[in-house]
Amino acid sequence: MLASKKHLFFDLDRTLWDFETNSVETFKDIFQIFNLQQLGIDDFDKALETYRDINNHLWEEYRSGFISKDFLNVERFHQTLQFFGIDNRQLAGEIAQRYISISPTKKALFDGTHEILSYLKQNGYNLHIITNGFPEVQHIKLQQSNLKQYFSAVVISEEVGWKKPAAEIFYKALEMAEATVDESVMIGDDPVVDIQGATDIGMEAIFVNHHQEPFCDFCKYQVSHLLHLMDLF
Ligand SMILES: [Mg+2]
Repeated sequence: MLASKKHLFFDLDRTLWDFETNSVETFKDIFQIFNLQQLGIDDFDKALETYRDINNHLWEEYRSGFISKDFLNVERFHQTLQFFGIDNRQLAGEIAQRYISISPTKKALFDGTHEILSYLKQNGYNLHIITNGFPEVQHIKLQQSNLKQYFSAVVISEEVGWKKPAAEIFYKALEMAEATVDESVMIGDDPVVDIQGATDIGMEAIFVNHHQEPFCDFCKYQVSHLLHLMDLF
């Protein structure tokens, strides 16, 4: 049934681009560049864990509208440094800037990414991206990880003014891809943002469950590995 579709819209972060692995790699670079060990942070794992907890907490505040994105970017490093007894907002600012420029140059993709995209393209499907993020960052990721070649329309929330799961971004993507709802499928890792968002406008969707999270009861299609998409197309 899905095999007769023509347009496949992929999410980028955590679906194709391995966000967690790339974050750890970036954090390692930061650790070295800023000599954090010499500043007294001698446990890399502890620093990473601390940063993650702080980052998650600040992201919740950002999503709820309590803090701005700029504040979030610096504050997550400021609080991490503070945890280790370093109160230096300027250093946090420099780290934040560096983090944002390094992160999108990282190239870790989920296993099978290039194989599945080549396979789908060879089989005649038109491939597109719908991603929540900033254009300057998302375009670099696509280029650096050599993914740009597969995609026709690249729809980025901050460029079009709407974020998934808003219906508007899906309609905008269909318009840009010159596709209809009926001939399209959304493929992504987030049950609410990707799957619910797409199915709300009547588009079929496939939940990419890389980490074998509990079954999503409203997700009609689900794969635990990108190569399993070959069974559906
Ligand atoms: Mg995602």
